[in-house]
Amino acid sequence: MGINYNTMKTNKRINLIFTVLLMLVLVPYSVAQEKLPKIVILATGGTIAGAGESSTGSAYTSGQVKIESMIDAVPNIRKLADLKGEQISNVGSQDMSVKIWLDLAKRINELLEGDVDGVVITHGTDTQEETAFFLNLVIKSDKPVVLTGSMRPSTALSADGPLNMYNAVAVAASPDSKGRGVMVVMNDEIHSAHAVKKMMTTPVQTFESPQHGLLGTVIFGDVTYFHYPFGIHTTKSEFSVEGVKKLPRVDIIYGCADMSPDLIPMLVKAGAKGIVVAGVGDGNMTEATLEAAKKATSKGVVVVRASRVPIGTVLLHGEVNDAEYGTVSSMDLNPQKARVLLMLALLKDRSREDIQNLFLNY
Ligand code: ASP
Repeated sequence: MGINYNTMKTNKRINLIFTVLLMLVLVPYSVAQEKLPKIVILATGGTIAGAGESSTGSAYTSGQVKIESMIDAVPNIRKLADLKGEQISNVGSQDMSVKIWLDLAKRINELLEGDVDGVVITHGTDTQEETAFFLNLVIKSDKPVVLTGSMRPSTALSADGPLNMYNAVAVAASPDSKGRGVMVVMNDEIHSAHAVKKMMTTPVQTFESPQHGLLGTVIFGDVTYFHYPFGIHTTKSEFSVEGVKKLPRVDIIYGCADMSPDLIPMLVKAGAKGIVVAGVGDGNMTEATLEAAKKATSKGVVVVRASRVPIGTVLLHGEVNDAEYGTVSSMDLNPQKARVLLMLALLKDRSREDIQNLFLNY
């Protein structure tokens, strides 16, 4: 059989065209693969890592599952980012501590100073708002830092952890998330660290941002933002954890009718440098407690008036004349976040006016 040179030439040309077309498809695909953002998930424990004996029972223990198994349990999560996990702690967030906060903050600053594009933190929901607010004040980067958790343990029917984790990674990987401070992602919603509050004991919709509104939503990884958060945060914040090994003692006392004035002097005696009063209504307390507060502030202990009411701003010089009693208004920060700001504020000597200014701006 003779060789048909024309057919060979045509075949060669077809091969060449096919190769070029294949390259046109494959090269951008492989570049896109290489360009997946680098996200590190720091696990601290919580219900999201919790396990129970029955998928329909309410009994379970927080902080049982390790981060690698948690990542493996989320379908398609590795398509969103080049992921790595690190175990920082494995506790229920009722046991979250200043030590873990400091370790966490230092590790996040280290990672974000390098080539990591964003950080996700898995965390129990009980104190998640406090950790988020603490990190919001001490992280020195505008790269995304996102906390998430779950209300149902990993073994539960309709566990909410996997989708929360998927959405948190999507938020951390989104270029739109830069410069929005530390965020909390749960139940398809994106909250700012300043605004978010745990409002319900066990339902999956527990987190709300009642006074400021949501920052945005994230639906199966699709991120939409509505606004930027209120308050100074991250790169603009004056607070730092560098060289810090512990924080000054600040305690919270809960206001009620006929509240005992004994609590304030007891805390001062125990060594509290600051006291947050979760007062009634607009940060109010019994006349006797106000007098005890005045005594404490005259000795240099900082007393902040917050409120046990979940929503609203404690008015500066409202029913209580703060200048007269030496007290500080927490403004719209709830008692637990007011405590976080006060602990950081007390790392250096400041006047009452300076501390009040922090509460007006952070
Ligand atoms: N007690 C748990 C925790 O905060 C609750 C939760 O994660 O939802 O770790």
